[in-house]
Amino acid sequence: MSRAFSFVGSPARIVFGVGSKAAVGEWIAKSGCRRALVLSTPHQRADAEALALEIGELACGVFAGAAMHTPVDVTDAAMKVVTETEADCVVSLGGGSTTGLGKAIAYRTDILQIVVPTTYAGSEVTPILGQTEGGRKTTVRDAKILPEIVIYDPALTYGLPVSMSITSGLNAMAHAVEGLYAQDRNPISTLMALEGLRAFARSLPVIIKSPGDEEARSDALYGAWLCGTVLGTVGMALHHKICHTLGGSFDTPHAETHAVMLPHTAAFNAIAAEPELAGAAEIFESSIGGGLWDFARAICAPLSLKEFGLTEADLDRAASIAVENPYWNPRPIGRDSIRMLLQDAWEGRRPA
Ligand code: NAD
Repeated sequence: MSRAFSFVGSPARIVFGVGSKAAVGEWIAKSGCRRALVLSTPHQRADAEALALEIGELACGVFAGAAMHTPVDVTDAAMKVVTETEADCVVSLGGGSTTGLGKAIAYRTDILQIVVPTTYAGSEVTPILGQTEGGRKTTVRDAKILPEIVIYDPALTYGLPVSMSITSGLNAMAHAVEGLYAQDRNPISTLMALEGLRAFARSLPVIIKSPGDEEARSDALYGAWLCGTVLGTVGMALHHKICHTLGGSFDTPHAETHAVMLPHTAAFNAIAAEPELAGAAEIFESSIGGGLWDFARAICAPLSLKEFGLTEADLDRAASIAVENPYWNPRPIGRDSIRMLLQDAWEGRRPA
């Protein structure tokens, strides 16, 4: 087989291990920073305040206003605090929403970001920022957006609720599945995607039974790093576009939408990308769509778009929006085929 590819490694530093949160202060100092603003959602404020205390005199404050899809007015409010406190770096403690706020601040100021992830979304290892303003979501990709340091401490995920662990895990797995057939994939992204899928295939069934299982939690966060890195390295296609459409135009929940759509988009694209998806199909011991659906059902993931209150009329509109702007996908996309795919996902039917 002849090979041709181009590969650029991510310049971010990854620190992984139980207890590694204790090293946040050390990394602030090593990076030459002295005033860290700790970011979180309102829900994780207490954890952010505790982290600021741990960091001690290197912390200059806490901003606990991060929200889903990085609203620009929240970034404006956080920027006031950055200025008032003379912060020279941010420490983002949380999931994709908090990471998004840190990225938005870095995009405006280029200050250093340290991310301490507590979900499996994977945003911490991508140079991509999705922001919302006036109900519209826009996406930017820039080197300033990629966090410089990511501290993965599996202990912070022991308490991630089981339902969120499942949907967040499937959200991460979707990055890997789409990475396998990406036009610009390379041998490293493929290795990472398959290893990430294996890590989740092993760990999520354990987590639903014992949410505090240290080995499974470590494995899942390791999978999140791998799958997130794939998302940050290669281009995504149909699956991410459809989830973006559903989330953006119908306000469906982010990780849950990924969880429902993944088996269907994988089955749809397997028709054109079977060899690329063969390694993943092997992991799930079936056709890729059917195997992912069986896996999702076994771990009690949501299986139908109906559960989010979408109507069949919404599916008509979603199909039209999803094909409005052409983009690359391994299998050509048509409005009728997308409408059928959405119907299957709405009903929660097992793909063949
Ligand atoms: P989230 O960050 O919105 O978190 C959901 C809720 O769970 C929040 O209230 C949060 O505080 C709470 N939470 C987080 N970790 C917890 C824990 N360990 N225990 C208890 N509660 C916890 O959800 P998410 O799915 O991580 O992120 C979704 C957002 O990330 C979306 O806006 C999405 O667009 C974005 N995202 C961006 C990228 C990218 O590369 N730009 C990649 C993936 C996701």
